[in-house]
Amino acid sequence: MAKMYDVIIIGGGPAGLTAGIYAGRAKLNTLILEGDKAGGQIVITDEVENYPGAVEDPTGPRLVERMVEQFKGFGGEMVFEQVESFNFDEKVKTIKTSKNEYQAKSIIIATGAKPRKLGAIGEDEYTGKGVSFCATCDAAFFEDLEVYVMGGGDTAVEEAVFISKFARKVTIVHRRDELRAAKSIQEKAFANEKIDFIWDSVITKIEGDGIVEQMTLKNKKTGEETVIKADENDGTFGIFIMVGYLPQTDIFKGQIDMDEGGYILGDAYMKTNKEGVFVAGDCRQKPLRQVVTATADGAIASISAEKYIEETFKE
Ligand code: NAP
Repeated sequence: MAKMYDVIIIGGGPAGLTAGIYAGRAKLNTLILEGDKAGGQIVITDEVENYPGAVEDPTGPRLVERMVEQFKGFGGEMVFEQVESFNFDEKVKTIKTSKNEYQAKSIIIATGAKPRKLGAIGEDEYTGKGVSFCATCDAAFFEDLEVYVMGGGDTAVEEAVFISKFARKVTIVHRRDELRAAKSIQEKAFANEKIDFIWDSVITKIEGDGIVEQMTLKNKKTGEETVIKADENDGTFGIFIMVGYLPQTDIFKGQIDMDEGGYILGDAYMKTNKEGVFVAGDCRQKPLRQVVTATADGAIASISAEKYIEETFKE
């Protein structure tokens, strides 16, 4: 017999954990299903300077550890199992993982998004050691250094302008000779004296001795390779990879409404198109993907789920 919960939360990042804390505190029987390890993208962030109150020991992993403790303190359960199939069409929802079957009165989808990777050699190895996927999180660490931003969309160009407030020089590397970003955003970058451009190129290799020291660019038109080395006095430079995001929502396609990019559509109450199914965090269509907005979504989704259960399952 499948075990029955009030709320099953899919995803154990800041959105899912916050939803869990609120649900547990409301005495709802709550399960978080996490496919990988708790924390989502935030556990790859060394320092979370911009989450209010995260002053002492503000690393991503510590922040998540404390959220997990808080969730468990309210009686929540967390299991590490990948969702394989589900049925959200009935009043009681069912989820099958590789190991178990679960039932719930309501579901909160908090599966997050992952930055798209380039596939460059050294990209994973140097993440957090000069390579970053988040300007809001990491730009301040590159004060007075040189920074390269890979990508030509709104995010890359807008963030290049933001990074230029810290860095000595910012170079946007784009795979074509024309930016994808909106004209208004492009204009700000073109007018910025600190911002330069390298066209028709991609980063293929990132190297160093424990920290980024050089990278190889390949010109897509000519095939020519150029090696860029860190300034001798700096010893390093920053590489921000901003080539789009991939929401982790594939499994829900065709059942839960999403936009063209695969982001789930939720209203102000985090309701999706399916009764009793809510969404929170980076997998939701929204303008800012940060820990602070993920936790806010999680809280709203949880309160909405609680109200839904009260109304739908009253004796
Ligand atoms: P995006 O619009 O998908 O742009 C991704 C950029 O990365 C493109 O320039 C693309 O090049 C490049 N790219 C993709 N894959 C690549 C690869 N493998 N190697 C090298 N380059 C690659 O993503 P985004 O900029 O993150 O924006 C996502 C969405 O959020 C968009 O709808 C955007 O309008 C929106 N957004 C809006 C704002 C704003 O309004 N202020 C700010 C940020 C984001 P190509 O151009 O050659 O395809």
